Amino acid sequence: IKVEEKLYQNRYMVDEGRPHISVKPHTKPSDALAALVKVCPAGCYTRNETGQVEIAPDGCLECGTCRIVCAATGDIEWNYPRGGYGILFKFG
Ligand code: SF4
Repeated sequence: IKVEEKLYQNRYMVDEGRPHISVKPHTKPSDALAALVKVCPAGCYTRNETGQVEIAPDGCLECGTCRIVCAATGDIEWNYPRGGYGILFKFG
């Protein structure tokens, strides 16, 4: 089974109006923030037309990569989803 097929089996409960990750306001992204567009395995980060980095946390795998990459810069706010929300992994 391919990785993409395994990921497709996961389910995600969206906590409407309460995203567990947010990008702090910025005009030009730091190198760390800009890197998230490439390093997030779920593709949650994108650049908008003005070059700022945005996040759509639906589908976040809660891997913590973005949290580590931006630990020194503080570019993002990262919390675990509330109980019952977020990723539900299916193994096997
Ligand atoms: Fe992407 Fe992982 Fe950060 Fe979620 S925790 S937004 S999957 S890098």
